[in-house]
Amino acid sequence: NTPLHELDPDVAAAVDAELARQQSTLEMIASENFTPVAVMEAQGSVLTNKYAEGYPGRRYYAGCEHVDTIERIAIARIKELFGAEAANVQPHSGAQANAAAMAALLKPGDTIMGLNLAHGGHLTHGMKINFSGKLYNVVAYHVDEETGQVDMAEVERLAKETKPKLIIAGWSAYPRRLDFAAFRRVADEVGAYLMVDMAHFAGLVAAGLHPSPVPHAHVVTTTTHKTLGGPRGGVILSTQELAKKINSAVFPGQQGGPLEHVIAAKAVAFKVAASDDFKERQQRTLDGAHILAERLLQDDVKEHGVSVLSGGTDVHLVLVDLRHSELDGQQGEDLLHELGITVNRNAVPNDPRPPMVTSGLRIGTPALATRGFQAEDFREVADIIAEALKPGCDAEALKARVSALAAKHPLYPGLK
Ligand code: PLP
Repeated sequence: NTPLHELDPDVAAAVDAELARQQSTLEMIASENFTPVAVMEAQGSVLTNKYAEGYPGRRYYAGCEHVDTIERIAIARIKELFGAEAANVQPHSGAQANAAAMAALLKPGDTIMGLNLAHGGHLTHGMKINFSGKLYNVVAYHVDEETGQVDMAEVERLAKETKPKLIIAGWSAYPRRLDFAAFRRVADEVGAYLMVDMAHFAGLVAAGLHPSPVPHAHVVTTTTHKTLGGPRGGVILSTQELAKKINSAVFPGQQGGPLEHVIAAKAVAFKVAASDDFKERQQRTLDGAHILAERLLQDDVKEHGVSVLSGGTDVHLVLVDLRHSELDGQQGEDLLHELGITVNRNAVPNDPRPPMVTSGLRIGTPALATRGFQAEDFREVADIIAEALKPGCDAEALKARVSALAAKHPLYPGLK
């Protein structure tokens, strides 16, 4: 029972340093969040010791009575949260949820349609060297250059031309809402399944602040660690009709033993996500993104070539367009990192710069909302970012403003 600090001081020191980093900087990577301590407690529990191949009541190992209880709770809670007929809570990650859902619905060589990676899609939606691009014939759709929004006319045209078996609606870097009913109409017209990957916006859906894809899609996949605020992991929701196929695609199709410690942590997170506090936090997340977009659309930044893709946001993130700025995505990411604000560079549609450099920044508000940021705090961080993106900013003064915000909203005060 030797504690980590004694058994392995090297790893312990790095964990401590990571805690200090999270506490002292402002986390604005749109796909990140801070889990409640109770979620980490469940994830760091004895459940990590247990093998439980199979599903509750039908395991291939003895001694599964307690993990059965936990997995049943997780399934019941997420079905209730999203009004889904069936749920599989075992995928180890969002990518594995997508791989399993596709394996359940498709054969290798089938045609799939997904949003182009550079236009905001995810690797698993058909990127060339991802499993999705290797196993399936990929037809990508795009955002409209003028509006920055998904071009549904192109989606319909491509679907009719290429007759996909699966249409994926979902994104990793897109600041607007998708029209799930329109996607379903197109899917029905060509006899395709519709899969919505709500990894990014699941928390907003859970809070009732974003339209739900569940009534429209055959399958909905999600991660549990982004806006949903839980442990790293994946989930697949589906109709009852598809549940059996999906379960066997996850296990034994893609995975062995489920991570029951993570499933317990998911269950705790789903309980939190059903609360009024969670809804209030998601509203602050949306308000914060709105405040950020408004600030970055003002003339003092516009005159330096900085803009916001699609002219604003309806979700938890803002895509900063640096195509006309001297600053590129890499420089913007580095500069903000130096100030203590963590974001990621991101390719924008028709990006003139290479993928490792890019002409965009993806900036999200979920983690700061979890940390307790109110509108006035988001106004301050938006102003810091705007000042930073202008040439010749006073880095020392901006750093001090970042530190003041971090100190105002202590993170994990009980942890050392
Ligand atoms: N789907 C979408 C839309 C995502 O944005 C991501 C992660 O960035 C994933 C799936 C994959 O999730 P994971 O990193 O857990 O595999």
